[in-house]
Amino acid sequence: MSSSPEALVPSVDAFLEAIQRRRTFAIISHPDAGKTTLTEKLLLFGGAIQLAGTVKARKSSRHATSDWMAIEKNRGISVASSVMQFEYADHVINLLDTPGHQDFSEDTYRVLTAVDSALMVIDGGNGVEAQTIKLLEVCRLRDTPIITFMNKFDRESRDPTELMDEVESVLGIQCAPVTWPIGMGKRFRGVYHLLRDEVLVFAPGEETREHQLECIAGLDNPELDRRFPEEMPELREQVELLRAASNPFSLEDFLAGQQTPVFFGSAINNFGVRELLGALIDWAPSPRPRPTTGRAVQPDEQTFSGFVFKIQANMDPQHRDRVAFLRVCSGHFQRGMKIKHLRIGRDIQVHNPITFLAQERELVEDAYAGDIIGLHNHGSIQIGDSFSQGEALQFTGIPYFAPELFRRVRLRNPLKAKQLQKGLQQLAEEGATQVFKPLQGGDMILGAVGVLQFDVVAERLKTEYAVEAIFDPVTVQTARWIQCEDAKILAEFTRKHEDHLAEDAGRRLAYLAPSRVNLDLTMERWPQVIFHATREHA
Ligand code: GDP
Repeated sequence: MSSSPEALVPSVDAFLEAIQRRRTFAIISHPDAGKTTLTEKLLLFGGAIQLAGTVKARKSSRHATSDWMAIEKNRGISVASSVMQFEYADHVINLLDTPGHQDFSEDTYRVLTAVDSALMVIDGGNGVEAQTIKLLEVCRLRDTPIITFMNKFDRESRDPTELMDEVESVLGIQCAPVTWPIGMGKRFRGVYHLLRDEVLVFAPGEETREHQLECIAGLDNPELDRRFPEEMPELREQVELLRAASNPFSLEDFLAGQQTPVFFGSAINNFGVRELLGALIDWAPSPRPRPTTGRAVQPDEQTFSGFVFKIQANMDPQHRDRVAFLRVCSGHFQRGMKIKHLRIGRDIQVHNPITFLAQERELVEDAYAGDIIGLHNHGSIQIGDSFSQGEALQFTGIPYFAPELFRRVRLRNPLKAKQLQKGLQQLAEEGATQVFKPLQGGDMILGAVGVLQFDVVAERLKTEYAVEAIFDPVTVQTARWIQCEDAKILAEFTRKHEDHLAEDAGRRLAYLAPSRVNLDLTMERWPQVIFHATREHA
């Protein structure tokens, strides 16, 4: 963005236009549905990368240089998520990657708080899978508009109508077909675009930014009968049925998160990808207002504001720092700007913000609502922190979830206690794990949502902090954050239950329940005490 004219102080019109042309979205999918492949093709269309293969290649070079990433490689999953910005058709696209594995769903949840829309990729052969269901639930909580891509139609797939029915019944969102597949597998001929009334002819891997696909206008065009004599009668029948029985696309319902436009294609063949970009630009919302404790913040407000939704350490071994990912919510961010870190009440001057153009680190000169900037973090920034100019605005809706899995941490070498503390504190700030320090002393207890998180923590403690930690089972089943307005009752509660109480990394009191039954009983016994299953950051 450094070369864009926006770098100068923009006029009001240019400011509004800069916001209008931004789209910030995430791809959600079950592992293996084709998220990485599609990401790559989107970047390719955006001109952000020259050759397909770069995303994967980069992934593996990272594996080779960073030990904890080896876990990813061994298990064939993507642990880290990142941000990519590129331009397409005069729009600025911010694509936020999400970890596919369910053990990192908390991380994914937070990424989804920072987007304005989502692209759901479904493997046409497998239909709706477990992780898709979970991710969609999160999107539904916020009524995030969703575009659906039925992928891998170059393979034998499920019946398209069946796939749409499954999305409707399992995910509870209405489908509006926009394109419709003509055949599948070896006999995949292309798609019919219901709104444009034209057939896009499938040619494996043909379409590029410069080279458009062959397109035949009109369902009654005799050229189609000549080319696809076997398929056309069935297609016409299907289209007639679709026009009569399926939901027509409604922009209003889409923006309300109640209807998803459905596209068919094949990511690996670049087929159907341009249509997805078109939908993003034409239909997906530009940056939306964001809630704070006081009021909603509009993207076109002049003063800067934003929140941190993710912290990542040591992304690049050559820069051994931590980066806080901030979503800009309003105003015009400029390099060197002074912004207030609300939780700490201190002004910081942002000299070296980072953006992720084509996955390269570059300095950001300026940014607008919807953009993500990376702030160098030396330990003072936590997930959920808000930054603004002037008015104190605390953004909401970025929660921690009560962990479901717990381990007691023991050191192999007791002299390393300090390093362990430092490592755990930093990993907790990043949201890699939750750390609880029992009030009665003793070893720290780690909490996680997915078991793989413990492996990552152990590996990172070893490689980044030179600490060998042993994780033992512990009889804790769930945690609740404690709140009580009455100080006397709180003191009594604390005295009575000291052996089950701990402080988290943010020094908040939490009740570590040995069992569900115990939790229920305790809650019943202390009606004045509130037991929170989630807690907001900051
Ligand atoms: P992710 O786990 O969702 O990121 O999935 P990937 O993008 O890594 O894809 C998983 C596998 O599916 C890889 O082997 C891809 O080459 C393959 N794949 C992705 N898209 C397509 C497609 O359109 N057709 C076919 N046949 N394979 C695909």
